[in-house]
Amino acid sequence: MEWDSLNELNERVVACKSCERLAEFREHVLENSKKYSDVKFWRKPLTGYGDISGRIMIIGLAPAASGGNRTGRVFTGDKSSDFLISCLKNAGLTNQETSTSKDDGLQYIDSYITLAVRCVPPENKPERSEVLNCNGFLIQELKFMKNLNTIIVLGKIAFDSLVYALKEMGVNTKGWKFGNGNFYLANEIGVFCIFHPSPRNVNTGRITREKFIELLNGAREFSLSKSLKP
Ligand code: SF4
Repeated sequence: MEWDSLNELNERVVACKSCERLAEFREHVLENSKKYSDVKFWRKPLTGYGDISGRIMIIGLAPAASGGNRTGRVFTGDKSSDFLISCLKNAGLTNQETSTSKDDGLQYIDSYITLAVRCVPPENKPERSEVLNCNGFLIQELKFMKNLNTIIVLGKIAFDSLVYALKEMGVNTKGWKFGNGNFYLANEIGVFCIFHPSPRNVNTGRITREKFIELLNGAREFSLSKSLKP
């Protein structure tokens, strides 16, 4: 199915209940939490956010229970967001270092961020069928990004969802494999693979801030260099 505008697509996203398991989970996760007893949760799917006419797309995994499922915006209000947004700022891709709530003034520069799966999954582990259910939304966003020349995937599930989408769009992804720092070309579009900035990856040292920023800078430089070509 195709949608004529991003607004129309986003209306469909927010109303989506295609995955029974996730639609049920997003409604009830953390509902007995004392920490959030006075907080009204979003509890709906998340749309992408940022500059749809930008040149860079960033794809994450899914909302966090206390992050996007609470605040209603992708990568907002949790530990992964703290790490990611401060690194994006360092690489020149956001206007500020923090992402705490929908009205905090965060803007993405020349970039748009979205998710492989738009509803919070139990234990952050969506099923393959759920990634596929959500894939049509990603395909549509890819089509809406008319200036796209660079894609950054954060983690294996984001990578897999991109590969599903590209195959559907007729792009040859034969031999592609996720790995931190891996790079591929999807026709002329550069695809950069980076570990997901989850607390587990950060706290265990699997990713460091320096390496993460270095990879983001590589993607940004690629995007700028493509833009300079006649
Ligand atoms: S994960 Fe995607 S396809 Fe599944 S219910 Fe949420 S928005 Fe719909």
